[in-house]
Order: sequence, then structure tokens, then C-alpha cells
Amino acid sequence: MNDVTEKKPVRHLLGLSGGKDSSALAIYIRDKYPEIHEKMEYFFSDTGAELPETLEFVDQLEAYFGKKITRLNSEKGFEHYFKLNGNILPTAKMRWCTTNLKLRPFEEFVGNDEAITYVGIRADEPQRQGYISTKPNISARYPFVEDSKDINDIREILESSGLGLPAYYQWRSRSGCYFCFFQRKDEWISLHERYPDLYKKAMSYEEFHKAHGRDHTWSEGGSLEDLLKRADEIKNNKQLGKELEKLKPKKKLIDRDSDESDDLGCLMCRL
Ligand code: SF4
Repeated sequence: MNDVTEKKPVRHLLGLSGGKDSSALAIYIRDKYPEIHEKMEYFFSDTGAELPETLEFVDQLEAYFGKKITRLNSEKGFEHYFKLNGNILPTAKMRWCTTNLKLRPFEEFVGNDEAITYVGIRADEPQRQGYISTKPNISARYPFVEDSKDINDIREILESSGLGLPAYYQWRSRSGCYFCFFQRKDEWISLHERYPDLYKKAMSYEEFHKAHGRDHTWSEGGSLEDLLKRADEIKNNKQLGKELEKLKPKKKLIDRDSDESDDLGCLMCRL
């Protein structure tokens, strides 16, 4: 006879964003904690606005681990929530995108099951903040913090695995939506160079705002139209910033926001 009161086992979950930290964490757990890897459920919260390279990298990870990565899609998508939020674009302070496109699908995926979510925050970024579920049945573990692993360890894990970094790191410092407001000005310019259609699509949201008497822009550095006009200047500043960085590695003079440790990217989007 089945015991109907039998408790369901705790679920072990790891969200892969297509970024380096969560990918390295999955490899690290597989190698260091194989018993957890066995039970691990991998998932990817697809906002429907991901970069092609991110989607490719997630496919690559799936093949690499030989384990299914569950794609969590927000049923209603960005457009739906854009309208629901009064056609106001999300911002760092008003991040309805993360809540609705990432956190909510994740919580629905977990339901009322008891679960541990493994988060790729590193030991060298104790100040990092992010969106983590506050549901009482979900708790979080930070293996890189617990085991004192920093950025160099993460690079080493990825390099020695043969996976390396996702291709978008050649021009962008984090994963996430193509229109993510956390991206730097030079990353917007690179988006335009690589995916002019996506840039145009992002511009259309700003134009929509403008047509409704609002000036809200994705980037704090100006409208996407303005950024394009300043493309050469932005690229030159980026180059100059890089050169200064080489001379004074601990001090960013021009490109302050190129320091990944001081960004506010969300745990569910960027890791
Ligand atoms: S990647 Fe950026 S735009 Fe997309 S959900 Fe996360 S914070 Fe919002």
C-alpha cells in the first residue's frame, strides 16, 4: 500500500542564464558534488528577448551535461507586461521585467515543493544583490561563496571544461535581454552592429514612448537614436577606457560602468 503521507524529496535547482557564473557553477557542482548534480534540475528562464548567442550557449550546455535544461517561458511575454505596466519601460529601479519574466515562471515551476536553488554569486562579490524568491519553500545556496571561489576560479572552470565563455562576451559583459537597460553605451552600439533589427526593435519602444509624450529611454546615456549619432565617440571612449584600465587596473577613469562587480544585474538574468 502506498503511504500517502510520504514527503516529496527536496528539489535541487540551478538556473542557467547563459552567463559565465551559472554555467561554471553547474560544472563545479557536477565535479565537486556529483551526488547533488545527479538530482539537479537545470532550468533557463527565456524572456523571449534573449540574444541568439545566449540561446546557442544554453543548447551547448545541454549537450555538454547530457541533461535536459527546462525552458521556462513566461506565458504572456514582454509585450503583455509592457501594456500591464502602463506602457512604461522597465528600469533598474522598476524592474517589472525580472519579476514577471523570470521570477514568476521560476516560482510557478517550483510550486509548493520544497526546493534549494543554487546561485552562482562568487566569493569576490559579496555586495552583489539580486532577485531571489522569498517563498518560504525555496531556500538558496551559494557554493562559490561557501567554497571561496572567485572570478579567476570561474574562468579556470570554464576554460578547462572546454566550454569557454559564451560568444556574446566578445561584445557584451552580461547575458539577458537584447534591450537590457543594464547594458553599457558601447554595448548598445555593438548590438546595433551585430543585430541592427534588434536595435531597431528596441528603438521602437522609445519611439512609442515619445509619441505618447514621454521621454523615457532604455539607456541613461540618452535615446538609442542619440547613441547612434554618438557611436564613434562612444567607441573611442571605450577604447580609451581600456587603455587607461591597462595602466591603472584598479581604477576605471572613463568607462566606470565596465566594472562588472559594480553593476546591478539581476541574479536571475546575469549570472
Ligand atoms: S535581462 Fe535586463 S531587461 Fe531582461 S529581465 Fe533581466 S533586467 Fe530585465
